[in-house]
Parts: sequence; C-alpha cells; structure tokens
Amino acid sequence: MRRRTCIITYYGYMDGSGEYYIVIDSSICDGCGLCVGQCPKKIIETAKAMIDIEEKIVATVKEEHRKNIKYECLPCKPDKETPPCVSVCKNNAIRIIWKAKA
Ligand code: SF4
Ligand code: SF4
Repeated sequence: MRRRTCIITYYGYMDGSGEYYIVIDSSICDGCGLCVGQCPKKIIETAKAMIDIEEKIVATVKEEHRKNIKYECLPCKPDKETPPCVSVCKNNAIRIIWKAKA
C-alpha cells in the first residue's frame, strides 16, 4: 500500500494586522482548474510541479500576488463567507486562513 504524502503550501503572510494565507494541499489537488475559473482576481493558476516523486499539474498562487493576499482576497470576504475558490473545490484541496485582529 502506497502512503499518501501531504504537500501543503501556505501562500501569504502574517503581519501586525493578522494572518492571511491561501493553503493548497498538492497531494489531493488534481489540477482541474475550477478554482482558477472562479477567482475574480485571477490570483490562482495551475502549473507543473514535482509532487512526491511525480510531476503533476496543481493549483498555485501566482508569485506576484503572494505578498498581497490581504488586499487581493478581501472582496471575497474570507472572514465571513466561504470564498469561491474554496467552495468550488470538490477535493477540499484549498482553504483560506484569515485571522484579522480586531
Ligand atoms: S479546484 Fe481544487 S482540485 Fe481543482 S485545481 Fe483547484 S485546488 Fe486543485
Ligand atoms: S479568496 Fe477570492 S480572490 Fe482570493 S484566491 Fe480565493 S477566489 Fe481568488
């Protein structure tokens, strides 16, 4: 039996105002691209990556947006609602950590 390797990537950052991350589990993402199509800010893309010992297509956050998640994702109201990128994923491969300090 082959063990599943979890490859979880946190895209985002923590600053004085809180924590803001898009979290993608590449071991269960199948690269379907549904989250790409649902993202109103076009932050997410699919790309080839080495996962465990095989190359596959997975969702990732575009490099130029990784330091700006707090502002880019704000219109989706991740503090109050399930964002479209999360709700569309049938594999539960993507989630948001959004902990803005009061
Ligand atoms: S919708 Fe889910 S499985 Fe499909 S590419 Fe996005 S994160 Fe991966
Ligand atoms: S929270 Fe909204 S803007 Fe941010 S990645 Fe998801 S769909 Fe795109």
